[in-house]
Amino acid sequence: MSKQIDQFMESLKSRTPGESEFHQAVEEVVETIWDVYQANPKYKEAKILEKMVEPERVFMFRVPWTDDNGEVHINRGYRVQFNSAIGPYKGGLRFHPTVSLSALKFLGFEQTFKNALTTLPMGGGKGGSDFNTKGRSDNEIMRFCQSFMTELSKYIGPNTDVPAGDIGVGGREIGYLFGQYKRIRDEFTGVLTGKGREFGGSILRPEATGYGAVYFAQHMLHEQGDSIKDKKVAVSGFGNVSWGAVSKLTELGAKVVTISGPDGYVYDENGINTPEKIEYMLELRASNNDVVEPYAEKFGAKFFAGKKPWECKVDMAFPCAIQNELNIDDAKQLVENGCKFVVETSNMGCTADAVNYLVENCTFAPGKAANAGGVAVSGLEMAQNSMRYGWTAEEVDEKLHRIMKDIHDTCVEYGKDGNKVNYVKGANVGGFIKVAEAMLAQGHV
Ligand code: GLU
Repeated sequence: MSKQIDQFMESLKSRTPGESEFHQAVEEVVETIWDVYQANPKYKEAKILEKMVEPERVFMFRVPWTDDNGEVHINRGYRVQFNSAIGPYKGGLRFHPTVSLSALKFLGFEQTFKNALTTLPMGGGKGGSDFNTKGRSDNEIMRFCQSFMTELSKYIGPNTDVPAGDIGVGGREIGYLFGQYKRIRDEFTGVLTGKGREFGGSILRPEATGYGAVYFAQHMLHEQGDSIKDKKVAVSGFGNVSWGAVSKLTELGAKVVTISGPDGYVYDENGINTPEKIEYMLELRASNNDVVEPYAEKFGAKFFAGKKPWECKVDMAFPCAIQNELNIDDAKQLVENGCKFVVETSNMGCTADAVNYLVENCTFAPGKAANAGGVAVSGLEMAQNSMRYGWTAEEVDEKLHRIMKDIHDTCVEYGKDGNKVNYVKGANVGGFIKVAEAMLAQGHV
């Protein structure tokens, strides 16, 4: 079996040289779904897996813009329309210097499975640019967004492809992008999600990814007769996702002791647990400086320059920052220090060897299941926009919670292994079957 997987991967790698992140994401899925794939001759005959690893369409484009000093800059923009078997392409836009075709292909591929797990009708896509928001003024960010959307607007629409935010793209950027789309196309539609609440955005969208990850963790712990209350937790990152996770963990009685940025991590032994501390994360993000050290200065916490929070002694870890932020050494250190649950809240936040180690040595929730709350509320935003209606916070929260429970139950259904649950396998198999069945039903397209 592993020889066949090797052959599959070799063939993929020779067709897509240098796309290491994409290969990493595909390999994890292929390894866990291979038995299911082999057992179903229809999948094999239709070459479903070979189709799934090839995006339906990829756009790459030039994004020229002018900074506040009048200097011209050129960035590269992308949109990867990966899979539309179960709905319009759906997935975020990432503005970050690490953005490349490989990164966006891994994200679009993962998004296809994640979206399938949400139970909502959304295909998979991803886009973005290597633009760095760090140190840029609001006006520069607005001009960049307008230039980016001038090109992107040709490829998206409320029934074809609905982008949203991701790293470097929050409510402010979505507002500028939406404004430009509306100006070019002269129509007010739900073409983007994560919009402001005043113009069609869903209540709870900013906190949805973090909330959803905590709801998923609640069910995962419940499965073992445990609960989040009184758990000591390490969180990485300090953007929207971390903020949502910290808020919900605190509300449920956990004590979050860390957040992190590219400069290092903050350890707050009293817990990041007051509205002032939690809201301060948003201020840090809005400053465009990409540092967390000011938190330590303001609240008398410790700051560890250049370090990651995985060296702390905690019960649970929530990587919420970026791909491959937690490697095998970090994983071992966490487990040796007593960590029992790792909830991957960033997309592919853990390296492949770290995932294998964590699956064996603690309870591990993969990103495509745990972080699906963000895109799930995006799906709810699409539904509200289509109805020209808006649900209350309670209604959205109740739907989000139900979706995260459904995703958890799907993982248990397909990942049960004796008295343990392999959540990686469960998420991959559950997502794969749904997309594969839809592709089969639609014939050779
Ligand atoms: N960027 C988020 C994700 O990785 C959300 C995507 C969306 O809302 O479309 O799932």
